[in-house]
Amino acid sequence: MFSQFALHERLLKALAELKFVEPTPVQAAAIPPALEGCDLRVIAQTGSGKTAAFVLPLLNRLIGDAQPRVSIRALILLPTRELAQQILKEVERFSQFTFIKSGLVTGGENFKVQAALLRKVPDILIATPGRLLEHLNAGHLELKDVEVLVLDEADRMLDMGFAEDVERLVEECLNRRQTLLFSATTGGAGMREMVAKVLHEPQHLML
Ligand code: AMP
Repeated sequence: MFSQFALHERLLKALAELKFVEPTPVQAAAIPPALEGCDLRVIAQTGSGKTAAFVLPLLNRLIGDAQPRVSIRALILLPTRELAQQILKEVERFSQFTFIKSGLVTGGENFKVQAALLRKVPDILIATPGRLLEHLNAGHLELKDVEVLVLDEADRMLDMGFAEDVERLVEECLNRRQTLLFSATTGGAGMREMVAKVLHEPQHLML
């Protein structure tokens, strides 16, 4: 039962509204250590419920320590616009009873509209690496106050040639307290390198 997790009541209310009762295996394995602040390296397929496995602990941290909105506090990097739109929808569903604001920055969308969104500084930014880097280079955002960094479908980001962009963005999140890395496959040498560089004493979960 989700109620067994130490989740904020506003999240439990959203879960009840969405009729999420029983956590999936990846949620049962990942949510408790993520709530404790551990870095995680999770191998899980799409459809396993992996989105809630990182979104719920991330939201719990942001709600538990509400601050005036002056900086981006969580960054979710993923490989494609479609996936980004899907994750935004999940984040909005889970955060419906909170004041947390999320924003989307992906390729294929209007750059100026995105710059305006970044000026409003969302709490959570969901982004594809290439476009986010363009905004960073244009001085449209800062990532130094990001507390939680999520790399979703990290194996696909590497396959799509985003390794350098991701690395650069990770370096910008220099004060982060927690990093969660999800992939569908174990990946090769590139993945091992990324795991070693990005995660700090991670728990490894293979679902
Ligand atoms: P994901 O693997 O994160 O893409 O999730 C796959 C689908 O399952 C999404 O539509 C979720 O909203 C749904 N889902 C995830 N976890 C649960 C759960 N514990 N109970 C019911 N539905 C869920």
